[in-house]
Amino acid sequence: MKPVHEHNEEAEAEVAAGPRLALRAPGQPDKVVRVGPVSVGGGPFVVMAGPCAVESASQLETTAASVATSGAHVLRGGVYKPRTSPYAFQGLGETGLNMLRDAGARHGLPIVAEVMSEEQVRRMATDVDLLQVGARNMQNFSLLKAVSAVRKPVLLKRGFANTVGEWLLAAEYILDGGNPDVILCERGIRTFDNAVRFTLDLSAVALVKERSALPVLVDPSHATGNRSLVTPMALAAAAAGADGILVEVHPDPEHALCDGPQALTPEMFATLMRRLNALMPALGRRMAPSVRGDAP
Ligand code: PEP
Ligand code: MN
Repeated sequence: MKPVHEHNEEAEAEVAAGPRLALRAPGQPDKVVRVGPVSVGGGPFVVMAGPCAVESASQLETTAASVATSGAHVLRGGVYKPRTSPYAFQGLGETGLNMLRDAGARHGLPIVAEVMSEEQVRRMATDVDLLQVGARNMQNFSLLKAVSAVRKPVLLKRGFANTVGEWLLAAEYILDGGNPDVILCERGIRTFDNAVRFTLDLSAVALVKERSALPVLVDPSHATGNRSLVTPMALAAAAAGADGILVEVHPDPEHALCDGPQALTPEMFATLMRRLNALMPALGRRMAPSVRGDAP
């Protein structure tokens, strides 16, 4: 039998290849990532909201106006959509990106959108305030290297079949490549249970907040796939220590081109914001300040 203390080169090599920059140094305070005028991390709770996909100017305008009025801090909207079927709506691309940029400017909100490929990085980085790397691309290492080379923060979603260790190493690619501004986002993982779309791993949120100083968001929309579960999971995310949420809102979810069943109506979103605001003092936390400035 091998002695327990035997020098284990393999284990040592694994530690050497582990995350460094993504780990919280002893005593290191939470990192704050600036998304336009919004500070993410370090305590205040940030809400990013908007449609799964930008579908039309009017759909986006209605959504942006309502989430801005309810107090969202960042406007989300997919323009390149990673769809399971090639026959499903793929997003409006460049046209959608222009609409998102204009809607953000009209309502005084910074914007976040998913970048799906290396070729899209430069163009999108000029227009968006936060580049989203989606769950399906969490280990697309050439995409991670490409977003590490631009001066825009990155929202790195956890792959739905990836461990916390793999997630932190994906963040490490971006940090090591020279981009210090990474925000993590837990969006549910695949488990044996298909009663909900995914299983929201809130324990990973509390764990990653311990292990890393990077801000951590929760996406209760993709995690549950069901609008009636979004509000309870958003409130639970705040209680678990998440730095904010990324949530889908649609003015007419029944007719949404993407992810309608999980979209909150603008009214439901307004209620969620009221409930989050009411919860903050009980958690010893506060909502991030409004960033709308002089916008209507
Ligand atoms: C999204 O937020 O638009 C999205 C596609 O999410 P995920 O990558 O987590 O599936
Ligand atoms: Mn979606």
